[in-house]
Amino acid sequence: MSTNAVHFGDKHVVVVGAGIAGLATAHHLLKQPNPPRVTIVESNDRVGGVIHASPFAGLHSVDESADAFLTRTPAAMSLAADVGLDHQLTSPARSHAYIWSNGIHPIPHNMVLGVPGSLSSIWQTPVLSIPGKMRASLEQLIPSPVGRGHDNMGKAIRSRFGAQVLERLVDPLVGSIYATDTDHFSVQGMPQVAELLAQRGSLTRASHRAIQRRTEGGPIFATPLGGMSALTSAVHHSIVERGCEVLLSSPVNEISRNGKSYVLNCGASSFDADAIVLATPAKHTAPFMQTLDADIAAQFAHVEHASVVMIALTVPRSQWPQHLTGTGYLVPKPMQTAVTAVSFGSNKWAHWQTKDNDMILRVSLGRDGMPMHHLDDERLLALALADLQWHLGIEVQPTHVRLTRWVESFPQYRPGHSERIDWLERTLGAVAPGIAIAGASYRGIGIPACIASAQHAASQTLNALGS
Ligand SMILES: Cc1cc2nc3c(=O)[nH]c(=O)nc-3n(C[C@H](O)[C@H](O)[C@H](O)COP(=O)(O)OP(=O)(O)OC[C@H]3O[C@@H](n4cnc5c(N)ncnc54)[C@H](O)[C@@H]3O)c2cc1C
Repeated sequence: MSTNAVHFGDKHVVVVGAGIAGLATAHHLLKQPNPPRVTIVESNDRVGGVIHASPFAGLHSVDESADAFLTRTPAAMSLAADVGLDHQLTSPARSHAYIWSNGIHPIPHNMVLGVPGSLSSIWQTPVLSIPGKMRASLEQLIPSPVGRGHDNMGKAIRSRFGAQVLERLVDPLVGSIYATDTDHFSVQGMPQVAELLAQRGSLTRASHRAIQRRTEGGPIFATPLGGMSALTSAVHHSIVERGCEVLLSSPVNEISRNGKSYVLNCGASSFDADAIVLATPAKHTAPFMQTLDADIAAQFAHVEHASVVMIALTVPRSQWPQHLTGTGYLVPKPMQTAVTAVSFGSNKWAHWQTKDNDMILRVSLGRDGMPMHHLDDERLLALALADLQWHLGIEVQPTHVRLTRWVESFPQYRPGHSERIDWLERTLGAVAPGIAIAGASYRGIGIPACIASAQHAASQTLNALGS
């Protein structure tokens, strides 16, 4: 249905959550020629959700979480353009990175998220042992159905390439992006890998074809020069200018029905809504959906979340090994003790240069199945420095340190996740018409996927209001 001719001015939409998904939902609702009234209710005292940056080492803004988004999925680029940030985007200054496997080794080219696209990519990397290379080379001879027909990424990759390609290549690449353990992760959670497995025949050849299709030119990642929170701030300002009310420190604790509309209870205050978009993590959504429908609430509660710790620190340039010119390194699961990935921030971003020319590192600790956030700051820093010494051979004496705990911040897409979300959307449509979902817990964890889900939720909402 076209919603262009419909006047929604007398309708009220409440968006729950002011992370990127909630803000982008409001943005898309208000882009409508005759938009509804939109209110965002947010439990925190700031907008942005898990996107956050702060001053560090004399720089105005250094990200505490996400520092880049993929440009291939257009949603984030077009939102940035809508809010006037398209001329303030930058891309990583370098593209090569490393895997630590008893030494620092370049991540091989000709791979899609660690899935080899050629025999040479298998045989040239020192990350795999000779038996590991031999096993991986057999992949092209394995019957097409092996590793397909189920939704477990670890099982799929291991059964086609053997354990080493999974543990030393695919798991570090996928795991470091989503703080995940691929042995408990849905294939559908990583669309690039799902696309390879959806094809018949050899995965090596599917990966090779995908690499050949990669468009020439144009950087793969982008970020606003002011940090990722410049995007959430710009969207926030833009929606407020168009009349959106953003209520901070207002946690929703119950949603109930009032005839054809809904009532949201936020402690002392309550709001009537003709439609609602839930842009909150699934786990936080479950409790306030209990009154409306216990089965739906149970499905929200089923989505698990992993925690990570991000430590930013500076290394005096005199201590920095000059041969490490890449953007950072990943640690394979069997070798992880605390640190899972280290980003060499001042190599990666040309604008992250301190006055003293120190190297800014962002060190990630913990993942699904390896929680670290319960440890105290002193212990976490000691673990990070011990791992840096082990991996890089340098005894780092940081001049600046900043530690951020991201508790239950990464939704974990367990095998069967897509079917659960299909059920959730279908049942919400039948039991609670006018309530839509958006955000990282559902159909994609990265920023572009969250924005795309917001766009979808906004269209669903306008259709529901217009029907
Ligand atoms: C450390 C880290 C690094 C990352 N790096 C990248 C990266 O480099 N690139 C990338 O693309 N992605 C990255 N991601 C993922 C991406 O940033 C997130 O998936 C995305 O920002 C989530 O947005 P969201 O709006 O779905 O959820 P959130 O940001 O979690 O927002 C949800 C909001 O809902 C609010 N809320 C919760 N309960 C209630 C309630 N009861 N009432 C009202 N409000 C409520 C919360 O306070 C929060 O503000 C990273 C994530 C983390 C944690």
